[in-house]
Amino acid sequence: MPDRAAMWHGGVVAYDVLFEPVPIGPVVARNRFFQVPHCNGMGYRDPSAEAAMRGVKAEGGWAVVCTEETEIDPSSDITPSIELRLWDDRDVPAVGRIADRIHEHGALAGIELVHNGLHAANLTSRIPPMGPSALPVVGSNHPVQARAMTLADIAALREMHRAAVRRALSAGYDLVYVYAAHGYGMLEHFLSSQHNHRSDEYGGSLWNRARLLREVLSDTRELCAGKAAVACRLGVGGGAEETALSAAETREVVHSLRDLPDLWDFVAGPWSLDSNTSRFGPEGEQESAVRGLKSLTDKPVVGVGRFTSPDAMVRQIREGTLDFIGAARPSIADPFLPAKIRDGRLDEIRECIGCNICVSGDHTQSPIRCTQNPSMGEEWRRGWHPERIRAADSDASVLVVGAGPAGLEAAMSLGRRGYRVTLTERSRVLGGRVRRESLLPGLAAWIRVVDYREMVLAKLDGVDVYFESTMTADDVLEHGFSHVAVATGSRWRADGVGRAHPLGLPIDAGAQVLTPDDIMSGSRPRGRQVVVYDDDHFYLGAVLAELLAREGFAVELVTPAPSVSEWTANTMELPKIRRRVLEAGITVHTDRAAVSVAAESLRTACVFTGSQRDHPASAVVLVTARAPVDQLCQDLVARQAEWSDLRSVRAIGDAFAPGTIAAAVWAGREYAETLDATDVPFRREITALGS
Ligand code: ADP
Ligand code: SF4
Repeated sequence: MPDRAAMWHGGVVAYDVLFEPVPIGPVVARNRFFQVPHCNGMGYRDPSAEAAMRGVKAEGGWAVVCTEETEIDPSSDITPSIELRLWDDRDVPAVGRIADRIHEHGALAGIELVHNGLHAANLTSRIPPMGPSALPVVGSNHPVQARAMTLADIAALREMHRAAVRRALSAGYDLVYVYAAHGYGMLEHFLSSQHNHRSDEYGGSLWNRARLLREVLSDTRELCAGKAAVACRLGVGGGAEETALSAAETREVVHSLRDLPDLWDFVAGPWSLDSNTSRFGPEGEQESAVRGLKSLTDKPVVGVGRFTSPDAMVRQIREGTLDFIGAARPSIADPFLPAKIRDGRLDEIRECIGCNICVSGDHTQSPIRCTQNPSMGEEWRRGWHPERIRAADSDASVLVVGAGPAGLEAAMSLGRRGYRVTLTERSRVLGGRVRRESLLPGLAAWIRVVDYREMVLAKLDGVDVYFESTMTADDVLEHGFSHVAVATGSRWRADGVGRAHPLGLPIDAGAQVLTPDDIMSGSRPRGRQVVVYDDDHFYLGAVLAELLAREGFAVELVTPAPSVSEWTANTMELPKIRRRVLEAGITVHTDRAAVSVAAESLRTACVFTGSQRDHPASAVVLVTARAPVDQLCQDLVARQAEWSDLRSVRAIGDAFAPGTIAAAVWAGREYAETLDATDVPFRREITALGS
């Protein structure tokens, strides 16, 4: 923690370097906090929602706030992903609204212009994809190939980019990106010797492969001259995964182009590494790939690292690795991160837990959500704010039963509104499932969900917390609460009921069946051989398999899905999980659904042929579905005739419908937001009919 004596203006002297203004070409950033481009699943479909979301970042003190990738032309169409579009002039008002909201709070607005090249299957525009060479599209397995661009196509691409720059300037942007990163952009495909097989002046040597990037940077610079800064986002080599450029080639490209952009944004590897989860990489993981590049250019450098620690940020600046602290996820989890550091409110930082639920919005084409920040994506739709909530509408007292993520968030948000809140928890600790799961391999950072809320609750006079207090309907009815939120969570089922088996499984009386709750409470298989059956498809099945393998059990992981932890494709973890599972010596069986559990084995059937086999196991861990723990709610509703002061009883979070931790936190906020509300806003963009 900082030395409180060393504070100035409520801020901390040690961090003043983070608040120095930094020129970027013709514009000046007010400090070193830079929200780099990030996808959000809203884009062209929900531009007003995105504008409000970016505006809140600017309000929270970020000096630069950028859009996500903005497709510059219908030939850069990555349907079904929902990004921004500047396909033609008609897109300017929507994109301009975002810049306006950013400017309202004194930040610079940046826009990431992108031609997706080989990554664009063009499923909407139906234009045959194009790239440096004739190759299948990348980043998806759509059965589509790109054609090799002619020199006329290359000239046309430059003109497309110029047109998009003009539109971006007319929409009011202060910083225009030229994008060659993540393996997704045309300019990076030209840089890559894997994807660029040309023998003309745009192929072969690195100088030739960098020609198009050089030309587009020059074009952009010419158009932006004096009006806006030019940023180059470059995928750099030398990280843990293969990139278009090697580390040596990266240095050569940066050196040769050093004066063209006004700012360099270095990205270490593909997006899955650039946005690595805390399960697979620490804060500041990108440093080794980015360190030293700044010495090749006089222009300021931005880079990311899931930075939430101001000390780590200062070190990046002082050691000369970065000029700007880039952030996507830390700015999502806490849009007010800069303001909190500036004001010395470090304990109030809502630290990103590195779970990538935010990333899943882009992958599921749904508006962004965040485990730590339930207001993310709801700024415009529901009018939620990450730091403010409207005052209480009555002097009602509220009982919140259960201190998992739903109960914690509800109690905290109600307390902030000014209600008198009693939070009761059966155990001796706060956190519910989050506390338990944070003890599992790789999930330690998740405890931040509890830490933040525990800190806020401690400061709220109106919230009383009682531990070791198991509430019954009698207890509740004895006290005169006005409202009761039942946030008592859920329990993993031991009967096999789940997606593949809505009616459950036949289970032999002599079988040892364990649930995730049992494992997290310390129960272990009675013998060495164990099967983990995963019909949940998110992280827990593989995490438990990893835990048991580390403890020396011989583990088989069986799933009816075609892949282990299939849903984690949406958090970009799937290949990493698969690798970790294999490295842990776990045997994997995909496409096999359970048939029955016998005393010493699990019987499964191939989901395609039905052919059966037995997997010897002294115990079977069933990761299938959860049952809501909502008895208290049911009991109270059944005794409505006995309610005197009580006006409402609601189950929230997993007790209502089991879901993600993000969903439980959101449910807590939603409960607090809607208590006593007469009008519950839910705005959405309505499609304008074409003629
Ligand atoms: P959610 O994800 O919905 O917040 P969790 O399962 O994480 O749910 O948390 C539920 C919390 O409620 C746990 O900490 C549990 O100990 C507590 N709890 C369950 N039943 C009761 C009860 N009757 N009285 C008080 N606390 C309870
Ligand atoms: Fe961080 Fe998870 Fe929120 Fe994304 S969803 S910003 S990874 S806490």
